[in-house]
Amino acid sequence: MDHSNQEPILEVQHLKTYYPITSGLMRRVTGHVKAVDDVSFSVPVGRTVGLVGESGCGKTTIGHSIMRGIQPTDGAVIFHDKELGPVDIASADRATLYRVRRNMQMVFQDPYASLNPRMSLLELIGEPLLVNGIARGAELEARVSELLRLVGLSPDYMHRFPHAFSGGQRQRIVIARALALNPQFIVLDEPTSALDVSIQAQTLNLLQDLQAQFGLAYLFIAHNLAVVEHASDSVAVMYVGKLVEQAETEELFHHPLHPYTEALLSSVPRPDPTIQKKRVPLGGEVPSPANPPSGCYFHPRCPYAKEICAREAPPLHEHKPGHFSACHFSSELTLRGVGDLE
Ligand code: SF4
Repeated sequence: MDHSNQEPILEVQHLKTYYPITSGLMRRVTGHVKAVDDVSFSVPVGRTVGLVGESGCGKTTIGHSIMRGIQPTDGAVIFHDKELGPVDIASADRATLYRVRRNMQMVFQDPYASLNPRMSLLELIGEPLLVNGIARGAELEARVSELLRLVGLSPDYMHRFPHAFSGGQRQRIVIARALALNPQFIVLDEPTSALDVSIQAQTLNLLQDLQAQFGLAYLFIAHNLAVVEHASDSVAVMYVGKLVEQAETEELFHHPLHPYTEALLSSVPRPDPTIQKKRVPLGGEVPSPANPPSGCYFHPRCPYAKEICAREAPPLHEHKPGHFSACHFSSELTLRGVGDLE
């Protein structure tokens, strides 16, 4: 069944998450690290939005701010809860947050760290159902069996412990736990990057099957574009706390408008070795959000930078319908997408 439409399940509006920088014995606040700085995007019902950038760009902070594992400094995170209607997660009280969190879940990168080794699969997957008073006893076992089957594991494993399972199987257990309360939305924080390459595709396929079956929406956080290419309907690219480009996946991969996206696309592995020669290596390091460069944050690494770039920060602008880019020269540059590299 196709559950997807363009109604948003989540709207991130001008989200800011800053951390204070303190110094001296009195821990006086001398500045702020702008880990997430005025970021807006939305995730439609039943769709996947990829959020991509190098490590330290703020994408994981966005994931935690959306779940309110971290308190945002400013902005709103509107979640369209199936029971409560629209709720601003950033300002919700504890009781509302508790209810809303049944319908939004997070799956982390490391399935080894996410599972308590002393709990059986029945306890791990059944815990959310038990804690919320939804099922116990035989009913709980029946629901956990069903969840194990959904993620491709045998219900016979219910009384085993996580150490008996491989990385890929553990990530399936984590996904089963995330599904226990029938959520509407899941933040997937690099869900496959700790797994063997051969297992990554299977895990992505499982996530896509579950999405089709239950109409789930995903925010898929990844450090490279290759992972999100086939898994996302649209992609948002982050650099030093800000969105620099956002578009439908096909459009972004074939017609990038921001030089940083071009550089990331250039590093996507392709099967043909001759493509390697056409690549533009991305030099330099990601700047610290505690001390970002002036103007466009990408200017020290950008092969197209001009004098204005060090002086003025380019706003995120809609250059084509649904295609946003924050570069002074997006309408002039002809950048290379994946088709041009092949
Ligand atoms: Fe490069 Fe200038 Fe565009 Fe920034 S604004 S991405 S430095 S061309």
